Amino acid sequence: MASAQVTARPEAPGPAGTAEGGIYVHFAYCARRCVYCDFALATPRRIPVTAYTDALIAELAALERAGMGLGGRARTLYVGGGTPSLWDPRELARFLDAVHREVGLDPTAELTLEANPEDVTEDWLAAVLALGVNRISLGVQSLDAPTLASLSRAHGVSGATLAMTRLAEAHAQGRLRSFSVDLIYGHVGQTMAAWEAELDQVVARFAPPHLSLYALTVEPRTVLGLEVRRGKTAAPDDGLQGDMLFAARDRLAPSGYTHYEVSSWARPGHVAVHNSAYWELRPWLGLGAGAHGFVAGQRTKNEPRPARYVEHLAAGTLAHVEVEVPDTATLAFERVLTGLRRLDLGVVLPAVDVQRFAVAIATSRAKGWLTTDALPQGEARLRLTDHGLRFMDDVLLAFVP
Ligand code: SF4
Repeated sequence: MASAQVTARPEAPGPAGTAEGGIYVHFAYCARRCVYCDFALATPRRIPVTAYTDALIAELAALERAGMGLGGRARTLYVGGGTPSLWDPRELARFLDAVHREVGLDPTAELTLEANPEDVTEDWLAAVLALGVNRISLGVQSLDAPTLASLSRAHGVSGATLAMTRLAEAHAQGRLRSFSVDLIYGHVGQTMAAWEAELDQVVARFAPPHLSLYALTVEPRTVLGLEVRRGKTAAPDDGLQGDMLFAARDRLAPSGYTHYEVSSWARPGHVAVHNSAYWELRPWLGLGAGAHGFVAGQRTKNEPRPARYVEHLAAGTLAHVEVEVPDTATLAFERVLTGLRRLDLGVVLPAVDVQRFAVAIATSRAKGWLTTDALPQGEARLRLTDHGLRFMDDVLLAFVP
């Protein structure tokens, strides 16, 4: 990646508003596709970064013009992918200028960029911090060389540790508000002892304020899916993966981490604000190929092929392949589906939904999957128990409208 000459941007006023919403940007390109990944992305020899940035800017402006914008400053901006650390910071700067101009960012906004370890050079980090990025989510996935190779990751163990060292230093120096480390657990051959040692090492050496821990899942339309179907690779052991999740909780709690969401652990003050918007059904704009959005009660989904997405925007049309206004029952189910992921807060249901789901709530309580707290005016707070977390799919099935 080229180092970029970028300067700190002045605080632009942007439209006033409630600053409740967020913006998700999908940077839909990677250097190559990992064997387990089925995300919407492309791996061209040369990323058409200027055309893609033009398309994102055009989409942002078009959504505002169409009355499908946030109607106020964004509280969060999250750039995911794909590999957003391949986005030339000069082009990212151009996009951020458009965000300030078209929507505005709250002065305290959380601005997260996902990064792969091999891209986290000193120059790159300085460039994106100068643009106002204040949170980095780093895709480490493993600290075991054979595992990184089997997952076809581009980085090795030394690259991962160097990137974490750089982020930890920037955080300690107050240049970076927060950072998160992604790890994958439950891959074939990984023992419980190896998993616990990996967690210990990450926490002791780099003390990330936030951790995202994902069980390896086998998606059918991936190389890994094909290998499992052909019997060349064993499927992950669900039971062991469940044990590994609870082992992580036990291991991380003494170091000050709260297991606040199914896959997320945070030290005090470092809960991911943007991701919380999804779990709390707050509005967010979805920009980029394959991005989903939820604004003004409408769910949108974009064309997943990056080249087709760019063509749509270049032709002056939005790239939505789905626009849906969910009915009340669907929204109520989605509130439970996403809200139950918050293990600390649970989900607060209005009285009408407590009635709607009375049977599911009673069944789930009887099975020990949920606890409920009665609140004033007939509302109730539902929380998953540890037993419910192990059987989360069954819990959600009980609530399907
Ligand atoms: S780097 Fe991330 S987004 Fe890109 S292919 Fe690998 S897992 Fe998928």
